[in-house]
Amino acid sequence: MTPEQDNDCIFCKIASGEVPSGLLYEDDDVVVFPDINPLTPVHLLVVTKKHIPSLAEMSDGDTPLIGKMIKAVKQVAIEQGIAERGYRITINSGADAGQIVPHLHMHLMGGRHLYWKH
Ligand code: AMP
Ligand code: ZN
Repeated sequence: MTPEQDNDCIFCKIASGEVPSGLLYEDDDVVVFPDINPLTPVHLLVVTKKHIPSLAEMSDGDTPLIGKMIKAVKQVAIEQGIAERGYRITINSGADAGQIVPHLHMHLMGGRHLYWKH
């Protein structure tokens, strides 16, 4: 745990290595691991090492982290073999979006056709 992490947060515990998750990617700011309850054949979580409760609660100084997350998405999507056929990223922020883990994360989903607008 770093001072920027929260002892009571499951994603902080995964990011620090305290809880094993089958990490697929790690850099100074971001980790990627499989969602425990996958909704698609490839369903990964892209998680900041810093504990930020939600997108809505990000400070202006944290916004470069979004670019770091996208960089991880692009690399992992290639490694997972979904870059060519396509994938979707989602950030749930707050109750109406159904955010259940209060630590900033992107869902990276692919491996099948993802329906949109129907
Ligand atoms: P949400 O907060 O709604 O954007 O989604 C949180 C996601 O985290 C859900 O899809 C859960 O299945 C997933 N999740 C919760 N706990 C774990 C865990 N320990 N390891 C991996 N995924 C998890
Ligand atoms: Zn956290």
